[in-house]
Amino acid sequence: MTHKKLVSTILLLFVFLTLSLAQTPRKVFISVDMEGISGVVHWEDVRTTGRDYNLFRTIMTEETNAAIIGAVAAGAKEIWVRDSHGTARNILPDKLDKRARLIRDWSGAPEGMMDGIDHTFDAVIFIGYHAKAGTPDATLDHTNSSSKIQDASVNGISLPEAGFNALIAGYSDVPVVFVAGDLAICEQVKGLFDTIETVSVKEGMGNAALCWHPSVSYDSIKEGVEKALKNLSAYKPYKMKPPYTLDVKFLSEVLANDAAQFPGAKRTGPWSVQYKHDDLMEMIRVFRWMY
Ligand SMILES: [Zn+2]
Repeated sequence: MTHKKLVSTILLLFVFLTLSLAQTPRKVFISVDMEGISGVVHWEDVRTTGRDYNLFRTIMTEETNAAIIGAVAAGAKEIWVRDSHGTARNILPDKLDKRARLIRDWSGAPEGMMDGIDHTFDAVIFIGYHAKAGTPDATLDHTNSSSKIQDASVNGISLPEAGFNALIAGYSDVPVVFVAGDLAICEQVKGLFDTIETVSVKEGMGNAALCWHPSVSYDSIKEGVEKALKNLSAYKPYKMKPPYTLDVKFLSEVLANDAAQFPGAKRTGPWSVQYKHDDLMEMIRVFRWMY
């Protein structure tokens, strides 16, 4: 090998190593909701007073563990888990895979279910997610508040919680790569994001659901997360162009009246309010105050 050839081979090797390192996820953020967990079909299943709540928080923890195992297999070195349902105190800390760190309770920050995310993360994973309010054949479909919101959209696009949370991740330039939940949310995110890996753990049948055994879901989640993270360069952060126009349709006239009182908010109909801002997180902050 000539000197010139040796130099170009070393250079090529260096470029290859840099590229492959850039594509290996070092830090992964997992946001975990509960309505889209295996077997969950009723509000009682996800409330602390429900007879089967303890069973489903165990399954919620195990689905999260499956995602952690998949992430580690794909090369992740640091994993944060954000308990994102109700009290944010559902995942069992002593049963969670010890390679991950757990964020419990709400800090009060507007990021909510994404609280803790920043630009140091390489990828985001959603576990236990559910479809937006008003989705037929979906399990416990709602948008942010089941008692207050009928629909919420940004720049004319009606979004599930996964959409709002992907925008928050996109604000820090982090892509969402994997979503697990019912079939309805899997279909909704495929319509929103250019590239997304999904695992459906159940299929809505009106108010009922056809469920996979939890252990089948664990295997599918582990494989899906590993596959997505090993192909990280295929995923792009979810972004929209500013200004950000938020349209919220409430479930009552009283709620719309109250929300319209926020500085800068505009009443657009009997149940509707609009708010516009150039900064995404300011819009998210106001949205959070509205419900
Ligand atoms: Zn929830």
